[in-house]
Amino acid sequence: MLKNCERCGRVFDSEGSEELCPECYLEDKKELKKVKDYLNKNPLASVMEVCEKTGVSQAQILRFVRDGNLKLRGPLKEFKCSLCGKPVIKGTTCDECKGKIEKGMNNKK
Ligand SMILES: [Zn+2]
Ligand SMILES: [Zn+2]
Repeated sequence: MLKNCERCGRVFDSEGSEELCPECYLEDKKELKKVKDYLNKNPLASVMEVCEKTGVSQAQILRFVRDGNLKLRGPLKEFKCSLCGKPVIKGTTCDECKGKIEKGMNNKK
């Protein structure tokens, strides 16, 4: 079955559940190990910090988390603001947008 690799977009022959081409699969494992090693030493590191220190992209780290390969012990769950797309630490909207929404609500009263 031909699939597009989730990382590089190349078409590769998948035997079933693989989402990555063989090359990216290896690269992925290396990055996952790097991230895990870093988190072993710094269990409370944020995604941003891990990203900076390991050179693994934030999207990639979040993909590890999403796929269940990585569990973040830190209190930080970084996701994107549903309104402006900025990274948020908690929840689904950033402080700025949250403020705007709250203001908007107050104005309607
Ligand atoms: Zn690939
Ligand atoms: Zn926002």
